[in-house]
Amino acid sequence: MDVLGRGKVVATREDMLTYEYDGSADTASPDAVVLPETTADVAAVARFCHEHGVPIVPRGAGTGLSGGAIPVEGGVVMSFARMARILEIDVPNLRAVVQPGVVNLHLSTAVAPHGLYFVPDPSSQKACTLGGNVAENSGGPHTLAYGVTTNHVTGLEIVLSDGTIARLGGKAVEDEGYDLVGTFVGSEGTLGMVTEITVKLTPLAEDRRTVLAAFTTMDQASETVSAIIASGVVPAAIEMMDNLSTQAVEESVHAGYPLDAGGILLVEVEGVRDGLEDARERIEAICRANGASSLRLAATALEREKLWAGRKGAFAAMGRLAPDYYVQDGVIPRTRLPEILRRVNEAAASRGLRIANVFHAGDGNLHPLIVFDLRKEPDALRRAQEAGLEILAACVEAGGSITGEHGVGMEKNCFMPLQFRPDDLAAMRRVKDAFDPAGLANPGKVFPTPSRCREFSLGAVR
Ligand SMILES: Cc1cc2nc3c(=O)[nH]c(=O)nc-3n(C[C@H](O)[C@H](O)[C@H](O)COP(=O)(O)OP(=O)(O)OC[C@H]3O[C@@H](n4cnc5c(N)ncnc54)[C@H](O)[C@@H]3O)c2cc1C
Repeated sequence: MDVLGRGKVVATREDMLTYEYDGSADTASPDAVVLPETTADVAAVARFCHEHGVPIVPRGAGTGLSGGAIPVEGGVVMSFARMARILEIDVPNLRAVVQPGVVNLHLSTAVAPHGLYFVPDPSSQKACTLGGNVAENSGGPHTLAYGVTTNHVTGLEIVLSDGTIARLGGKAVEDEGYDLVGTFVGSEGTLGMVTEITVKLTPLAEDRRTVLAAFTTMDQASETVSAIIASGVVPAAIEMMDNLSTQAVEESVHAGYPLDAGGILLVEVEGVRDGLEDARERIEAICRANGASSLRLAATALEREKLWAGRKGAFAAMGRLAPDYYVQDGVIPRTRLPEILRRVNEAAASRGLRIANVFHAGDGNLHPLIVFDLRKEPDALRRAQEAGLEILAACVEAGGSITGEHGVGMEKNCFMPLQFRPDDLAAMRRVKDAFDPAGLANPGKVFPTPSRCREFSLGAVR
């Protein structure tokens, strides 16, 4: 309290309860929660924590799905909720400078009158912050053609865990020396805090076509994804959902998805008007050749919005199926989709669990959602986590990765050896040590920790 003043510190135990949670299954209690309003506040808290050997856990909106904002080793949770201003919109240079607490969608809304937007559009974009997006290197349905957060950030102001304030990059695209902006993006708060972000803005497309394709089986939908990409058309988005997901979404959002399809694809192409019809016809022909049972082109902007509201509301719609869900986030080469989806479903079914699949198919980024009711099945979370581990092992075996966009956090740090050798992890650790030698920046995340990881055996899935 002496460092920032009473008004910037969450004082009561009850008020601190919120900060024990994020979007994942893990929880832990902070020792204190602070709400800085300036970079100087952030640096002052960091200096205090450094002097007293206290961990700092940065927090945006707490929508993270890998426990990144959970204070697993205690310490101070630093919420960026009050650093939520758009500082500059530089239209001629296609840049915006923002504070980390700005909500993702608010930026695109603010620059829309200039015919611009911020490309990365996580499905959580109504709530998640740009600081969280930078820390997780977030993606979204529309990052297939344009790249994820790291491709849209050119500059950062950071505060290291000892209170040092540094600037990395700027408005220009960095092309000399070490790419420290690239190093910081995706570092999950383990290198320090982001206090200002310079992002690229992108002109809104002149026009777009959004097609909903229904298939009898998920295999047909999966084959179609590979065929579309192989044809040379690069859609702005290709999203896939299975039947259980569409049932839940229809009940919750009434997006107009067919209820009898085994799998559906939402495919969008955008750009200059000329050529779009040609791209749509090619996509529809590929869908038909792969057995599409129905094709629907969004005829109006409202219809398109509804189709996307269904996809973006899919995680929340899981509440229609069961009160609890556990989501995984593995990546595979697209061509392996049919086979890996079968393994995903088996991993859940063999443990008596129901699974819904909603994912960024164009990126091969799976999001199996295992749904259950903890009140009726107290050990369901443990079984879901076991299934999750088996799914990630299958992704790595197929040449993919244990996370596409949700980060490693504390949920998957014990699984890192599935993908990385000890020397790989040691090299990453040296980067962490260079930025955060005292180990106070979001400890217990990304790297396996002996205390928590001892109980995990990867042997069973190898
Ligand atoms: C329904 C739903 C849908 C989602 N869909 C997507 C999706 O399509 N794509 C996707 O990529 N993710 C998705 N997510 C995951 C999540 O929304 C993203 O990871 C998002 O970027 C997290 O932002 P946040 O502000 O909530 O961050 P938090 O959850 O608060 O924090 C996430 C991580 O960022 C760190 N952090 C936060 N702010 C800072 C800062 N200023 N400096 C340094 N580190 C910081 C935290 O320490 C933590 O490690 C979804 C989540 C939900 C609940």
